[in-house]
Amino acid sequence: MKKYKITLNKEDCIGCMTCSAVCEKIFTPSDDGKVSVTTDEITEETFDCVQQAIEACPIEVLKIEEIK
Ligand code: SF4
Repeated sequence: MKKYKITLNKEDCIGCMTCSAVCEKIFTPSDDGKVSVTTDEITEETFDCVQQAIEACPIEVLKIEEIK
């Protein structure tokens, strides 16, 4: 499997927690009212849930980038 990491544009995140509802292992609420990414590395185990969270984010501030 190729290696990927998650990037979050925290400035534009509205803290709606949709990503956390879909994938709570990786996306958790943070003290600033936005979301925290518990790890930016994606494993085979978390790939599908991260993908679903990215698709669910209403303002598209989450992305997956391939690590080269
Ligand atoms: S779904 Fe998007 S906007 Fe909502 S908390 Fe997650 S990253 Fe932020």
